[in-house]
Amino acid sequence: MPRNRRILGECPRCGQDNYTCSYNHFQTEGLRIDSWEHKCPDCGYRETQAFRSDADDLADGFDPEICPFCERSAT
Ligand SMILES: [Zn+2]
Ligand SMILES: [Zn+2]
Repeated sequence: MPRNRRILGECPRCGQDNYTCSYNHFQTEGLRIDSWEHKCPDCGYRETQAFRSDADDLADGFDPEICPFCERSAT
């Protein structure tokens, strides 16, 4: 599983500097899932969002390789 993590810095909840943005993607037959997670190891604050390639509610031109929280690119 490819894993891609970046340290963002200050946690919005506790203010420690270990807040991270992680990107994962999974590919199985006919389905692709892109998942994003923002997480603080100090206080446990966490935000996650996953995008399935078979979802009907994704807008045209939507790019699942852009973080919905901090807008960084996975690549
Ligand atoms: Zn925190
Ligand atoms: Zn992010």
